[in-house]
Amino acid sequence: MNANLLDLAGGADAANAPDAHAPPQSGRVAIVGGGLAGSLLTLALAQRGYAVDLYERQNDPRNRGGREGRSINLGLSKRGMRALELVGLLQTVLDTAVTMSGRVIHAPDGSTRYQPYGKDAGEVLHSIDRNELGHLLLDHAEKHPQVRLHFGHRLARIDKESRTLEFETDDGPVSVRPQWMVGADGAFSSARRELQRGVRANYHQEYLEWGYKELTLAPDADGKSVIELTALHVWPRSHCLFVSHPNRDGSHTLTLFLPFEGEDSFETVRTPEQITALIGKYFPDLVALLPGLLEQWSRHPIGSLITTRTAPWAFGDWAALVGDACHAVYPFYGQGMNSAFEDCCVLVNALESHPDDRAAALRAYEQARRQHTDVLCELSKENFVELRKKVQSPWFVARKRLDIALNRVWPKRWLPLYTMIAHTTMPYGEAKARARRQDAILNRAAAALAVGVAGAIAWAAWRWLR
Ligand SMILES: Cc1cc2nc3c(=O)[nH]c(=O)nc-3n(C[C@H](O)[C@H](O)[C@H](O)COP(=O)(O)OP(=O)(O)OC[C@H]3O[C@@H](n4cnc5c(N)ncnc54)[C@H](O)[C@@H]3O)c2cc1C
Repeated sequence: MNANLLDLAGGADAANAPDAHAPPQSGRVAIVGGGLAGSLLTLALAQRGYAVDLYERQNDPRNRGGREGRSINLGLSKRGMRALELVGLLQTVLDTAVTMSGRVIHAPDGSTRYQPYGKDAGEVLHSIDRNELGHLLLDHAEKHPQVRLHFGHRLARIDKESRTLEFETDDGPVSVRPQWMVGADGAFSSARRELQRGVRANYHQEYLEWGYKELTLAPDADGKSVIELTALHVWPRSHCLFVSHPNRDGSHTLTLFLPFEGEDSFETVRTPEQITALIGKYFPDLVALLPGLLEQWSRHPIGSLITTRTAPWAFGDWAALVGDACHAVYPFYGQGMNSAFEDCCVLVNALESHPDDRAAALRAYEQARRQHTDVLCELSKENFVELRKKVQSPWFVARKRLDIALNRVWPKRWLPLYTMIAHTTMPYGEAKARARRQDAILNRAAAALAVGVAGAIAWAAWRWLR
């Protein structure tokens, strides 16, 4: 990644957020999609003097209760924290979070093993409430007089010739002509589809053959968590997987990942008996902890997961894409929101680096960023295998311990891959390359050790036989 662009993303703090002296920018920018990335970008641009219209297809989420069945909490890590620092909201968000210092791995026999996320208290994740964070960003964006929020506006079409966005609303179609626009409308982005129409574009999408369902693990009668609160919990099985994030009220949001089809799948597990049997077979320790299992199962939908890569992200001086709209990733590295927030930082930085040339700014943003989120897509797929299978393997656990031990000895020179992804803002591609180099060193050291041991045995045998 262009070091300059990353510097600002990483070096920002609350001092960058206030906008009292930000010079007004000419024209209005339209942001399509008021999810996490769209709301954060609206706020960041408003703080820098931009007049922003945010268009969101749903009604104002602040006027309804929590959305049942969607992932209601997310793991916030370093990249997301840097972005929240950029808009001056990091501490406010952390005050509402539950800190997770590591993973608790639950074996099929009910035993547990704790794996710290890093070498010290600075290397932790924060479990945050998705809805609360979204509401907070919208509240702060709305405080800026030059921001207008338009809920119930679904982008239907873009006329690139006349630079017109067409929305469907309950009151009929609405057309607008912003000076420029950003598509932040998620994995199934209409903005991406419309902007790429008639352009030499690449688009790659993969569906995971596994879906997910969310369940809540309630606290006990005293409001205490029934499992360790300050950790992410994983029940890894090669055929299915539970992951849980803690909530402030002592509950945990459990996400069950299960194949869509085949034996023990969402297709074949339907009746109360089948559901109870599935949990009993793979997660016996959870049976007693989930008294409301059947009722929750029937109420909560099955979600599907996709990963996408696409190009281009920038369209002249007029449009760009951010977040899931240009790189949806499987959630197994916990980086979707974090990387979407990092996009916003890099875009803001690119605009500041090219104040008089928006085309150059949007191009620089894509050049700095896309190669790295492509790597993140691959890493997130690999982590699916790690979470299901490897975390149980003694070799994997030993390797993790060795990584952390080497990191303690050489904190700057030796960084485990997970540390680089979750606890630094090192570009994803650089992190992967560095991890491969470290792997090669370890493999060479292991080979040298094996040769040494073999040599010593041969020498001892020779001496003995002589
Ligand atoms: C099970 C699960 C667990 C996850 N856990 C984590 C985690 O721990 N950490 C992490 O960092 N990430 C996690 N993620 C990923 C994270 O949720 C996403 O990467 C993040 O929400 C992307 O933000 P976004 O703003 O780009 O897209 P979204 O949050 O999807 O927002 C897009 C918005 O655009 C709106 N929209 C869509 N179409 C239109 C249209 N035509 N017109 C107008 N508006 C439109 C939508 O209503 C929505 O509000 C997880 C995802 C899943 C599924």
